[in-house]
Amino acid sequence: MAAWSAACAHCGGHRPPAARWNEGPVCDPCYTAALQHRGRCELCGQTRRLVAPPGPHATTCADCAGIPATHQCTDCGIEDKLYERGRCGACALRRRTTDLLSAGTGRIPDQFSDLHAAITSTPSPRTALNWLRKGAGAGLLADLAAGRLPLTHAALDAHPHPAAADYLRHMLTTAGILQPRDEDLARTERWLANLLTNLTDPAQRRLLTAYATWRVIRRLRRRADHTTAARTYTATARTNIKAAAAFLTWLSTQQSTLDRVTQRDVDTYLTTGPGAGGGVGGWAGVQQPVDGCLPPGRSATSSPVCTSRPPAAARRLWPAWAVHDHTLTPGDRLAGVLLTLFGQQLSRITALTTDHLTHTDGTLGIRLGHDTLPLPEPLTTCIHDLLAGARVHHSIGSPSTPNWLFPGHHPGRPLTASQLGQRLRALGIDARADRRTALTHLGAHLPAAVLADLTGIHPTTAVGWTRHAAADWATYAADLATNPDHQP
Ligand SMILES: [Zn+2]
Ligand SMILES: [Zn+2]
Ligand SMILES: [Zn+2]
Repeated sequence: MAAWSAACAHCGGHRPPAARWNEGPVCDPCYTAALQHRGRCELCGQTRRLVAPPGPHATTCADCAGIPATHQCTDCGIEDKLYERGRCGACALRRRTTDLLSAGTGRIPDQFSDLHAAITSTPSPRTALNWLRKGAGAGLLADLAAGRLPLTHAALDAHPHPAAADYLRHMLTTAGILQPRDEDLARTERWLANLLTNLTDPAQRRLLTAYATWRVIRRLRRRADHTTAARTYTATARTNIKAAAAFLTWLSTQQSTLDRVTQRDVDTYLTTGPGAGGGVGGWAGVQQPVDGCLPPGRSATSSPVCTSRPPAAARRLWPAWAVHDHTLTPGDRLAGVLLTLFGQQLSRITALTTDHLTHTDGTLGIRLGHDTLPLPEPLTTCIHDLLAGARVHHSIGSPSTPNWLFPGHHPGRPLTASQLGQRLRALGIDARADRRTALTHLGAHLPAAVLADLTGIHPTTAVGWTRHAAADWATYAADLATNPDHQP
C-alpha cells in the first residue's frame, strides 16, 4: 500500500486521507459526506451537523458536545462543505451571480430579478458555480446585464459557447422565464442551417433549403406539437435531407441539374454514385420515379448489377417498366408497386378505397396507415386510369359505398387478398416473398428504430410514416422535375 493512503476511519477503505480527525484519517468522499450531512441532534433536537461521538455514528451537534463548530458559512451560518472564502456553495453562487448581473454594484436591475432567482435557486449550486467559473457562464451573464444578449432562444442559439448557453437556457426554462421548446427539433434546425451554409452552389442551396424547410422541417414542427414520443423522427428527417444533398451534389458532378434529371441519371446514381451498394441516398432515389416520361419496356438488366437494387420482380414492376406498361391493367400496376416497392400486404391493398386518396396543393397522395404518401406523376396517371375503370364497374350494380380501388367480383365487396395474390402471381410476383424482400430492402436503408417498427412491431402506425419520410425527397424531386412551374 502506498505511504500516502490510509485506512479511512469512516468507511475502512484505503485512500489518501482528506483530513485527520479525532477518529482518525478520513478519505475524501467520507470527508465531504460528513461535512454535508445533517441530522437531528439527540440533545437539542435541532437539525445540525452531527459531530460527537467522532465517526459515522455521531448523534450530537458541536454546541451540545461543547466543541467549536467548524466549516460554517460566514454568510448564512449553515454547516456545510464550504466553497470559497468561508461561504457555502449557495452563498458563493448568489454573490457571484449578483456581481455579474449588477455589474458589481450589488443592485440587480428589475428585469433580471427572475433570472437571478432562477440561477441561484438551482438544486446543485456547485454545478452552477463550475458553469460560471470554468465555462462561459460569467461572460453570458455579463452580456445579459449589459444588454448585449437578449433573453431569447435565438440569442442563446447564436452564442459562441453552446454548452454554457444551453445550461443557462435550462435554468431559464425551468424557471418559466423562457418558453420551453422541442430541443431535438431545434438541434435538427441548427444542423440544417450548418449544412446549408456549407453548400457552395447557390442553386443547390436554394433547392435544399426549400425542400428541407417546407417539407421536412415543417412536418417535424407539426409532429413536435403533437407527440411526446421518442424522437427517432428527427433522425429520419436528417437522413432525408442528407440523401437529398448527396443526390444534388452527385448531380452537379455530372454537370446536370434537377430540372434535367432523367431516369437514366437515377439508375446511374444508384449503381455508381454514393448511393450504390446501400446508402440512404440510394434508397431515396430508387423509391420513386423521378422522371415522368420514361421509355416503356426499358430493361433493368441494362444497368450494372448492384446489391441494393430491388429484386427482379420489383424491378420489373418498378415504375420505369410497370407504370408505363399499358398492357397491364392500372389496378395490377398500382397493386404491384404498392407491394414490391412499399411492402404493403395484399389485404391492406385490397382494403384501399377512394377515401385513402388525398388531394393536397394539386398533389395526389395515398394514405397508408396514418401518413400520406405523395404520388409522383406516373403513379397519378395510373390511379386516374384505375378510377375511370372503377366508375364503370360501379355502374354495373355496386352500391355507392365504399369505393374500393380494387373492386371484387361481388357487388360492394373488394377483391379478396387471395384473388389479388393470384392476379399478381400471373405477372410473376410472389406476394409473400416479394413483400418480404421489399421490407428487407426498405429496412436496410432506414434507421434501426424505424426498421423495428417496419418489420411488424407497430405496422399500422409506423409503416406509412417510414415510407412517407424516406420517399419524401424523391417525391419532391419528382414534383420539381415534372412541374416546371413549381418554384422551390
Ligand atoms: Zn472513507
Ligand atoms: Zn445539539
Ligand atoms: Zn451560506
